[in-house]
Amino acid sequence: MFKKILIANRGEIAVRILRACRELGIKNVAVFSEVDRTAPHVRLADEAYSIGPAASRESYLRIDKLMDVARRTGCDALHPGYGFLAENPALPRACSDAGMTFIGPSAEAMEMMGAKTSGKQLARRSEVPTVPGTDEAIENPEEAQSLARSMGYPVLLKAIAGGGGKGMRVVPTDAEFAGAWRDAASEALNAFGDPRLFLEKYLIGPRHIEVQIFADAHGRVVSLGERECSIQRRHQKVVEEAPSPVVTPELRKKMGEAAVRLARAGGYTNAGTVEFLVDADLNFYFLEVNTRLQVEHPVTEQVTGLDLVKLQIAIAAGHRLPFAWEAITPRGNAMEVRLYAEDPDNNFFPSPGKILSRHAPTGPGIRLDEGVYEGYTVPLEYDPLLSKLIAWGNSREETIARLRRALDEYTITGIRTNVSLFRRILAEPEFLRGEFHTKWLDELLARPSPPATPPRPGTEDASVIAAALWHTTRANSAANVNRTTSAEPSRWKSQGRRQQLDRTP
Ligand code: ADP
Repeated sequence: MFKKILIANRGEIAVRILRACRELGIKNVAVFSEVDRTAPHVRLADEAYSIGPAASRESYLRIDKLMDVARRTGCDALHPGYGFLAENPALPRACSDAGMTFIGPSAEAMEMMGAKTSGKQLARRSEVPTVPGTDEAIENPEEAQSLARSMGYPVLLKAIAGGGGKGMRVVPTDAEFAGAWRDAASEALNAFGDPRLFLEKYLIGPRHIEVQIFADAHGRVVSLGERECSIQRRHQKVVEEAPSPVVTPELRKKMGEAAVRLARAGGYTNAGTVEFLVDADLNFYFLEVNTRLQVEHPVTEQVTGLDLVKLQIAIAAGHRLPFAWEAITPRGNAMEVRLYAEDPDNNFFPSPGKILSRHAPTGPGIRLDEGVYEGYTVPLEYDPLLSKLIAWGNSREETIARLRRALDEYTITGIRTNVSLFRRILAEPEFLRGEFHTKWLDELLARPSPPATPPRPGTEDASVIAAALWHTTRANSAANVNRTTSAEPSRWKSQGRRQQLDRTP
């Protein structure tokens, strides 16, 4: 087993990984940027080292700095988490050059399966159905347009290097093609430095259902079942659950087998996720492979009883998977909501800042994977994910009841959060019936929101009053010191508008 692991990430996922290290008795090393000096992952780690300024390209994206810390501290393995460098083949290569183990797939498997178009090619070769469209970049927009005409509208333009919904445009009609192509290509160039696009048939109202796979270095590949991730805002997941309300044992088996086939064909090892779109007739189509741990991995952990991070570490250390995939059947239901520092009343604009008070929910069936604490200042430089609230229950109904109860208990003051979004989703009859698709939430949000419910008496009242008092005192003293500051726009807002946030996948 490893002696010391470098955690090349921040926030809740860095905390999640170092907890696994602690339980395994492995020493861990955290890295942090200037603004993360007091972050939870730094406080909890055995050792922590500064790797530069706040901008992630000067710190968390610097392979040379990560390798330097790893060498100086004697780490024998590196866990990349998700986001940042997690899907960059240069990181496993640098690890192997430094004689360290990368906790994830090989650089080659990452290249072949992680890129959207080569992943689709592999899926086709493995007889896994793919979304109709091209599986390579189209250089010439005229050629793309004539393909779109023959395929029939609507079509979807996608960036080869895409992620996080960037460089993606739905084209409803032929007349809109040229403009959409220009927009998608320039967005892709800005976000990824690569303007190349490919084309897919735009499926109407599909579900996003993904399969968690694991593969060891001894040839065993398993599926740990599916996660339903159709509750998305602008193509970004916000609620995930396992199992999916529409997946039958037969479909689970078919999707699991397809995912395993693909992983075998790609020579894949460690944890991966095979994403599918599923239509109303329960036909499934390969979308892409995520060659890393997913944000939403806890729902799989809750229904399988497995610790996926410990499993990743064990497999990277050369251990065998201790079970066959037929042995895994989900137990109960789990659901996760992604709590962000963002303002649902202001178009979900990021709302970083200091957390004045916080009460975390506990009790039966509740898990909170968190990257913040009371008094912590959420930096504006990164993805504003605060925590993932996960509920488990014997049935979907019990899980939802627990999640609602936990959301009522959860209070954070000083910053805006998207808690109200989840209260709204969890009250919708269609959601409760499991009847939704990937555009369902966007459609819901386009309708006027119901009147806000008055705050419950109790801790919330007290913390709201405390926060208001704190703000007033601070505003008054600021006004006394320098009267001109009150007329300036919020620094968070103006910086936030300029800043390109590193959204988690
Ligand atoms: P990214 O890597 O940028 O997140 P994905 O390919 O994973 O992009 O797709 C993200 C989401 O976009 C999907 O979950 C789904 O909601 C939507 N989507 C992607 N491809 C299609 C398609 N061909 N038809 C309909 N919706 C799609």
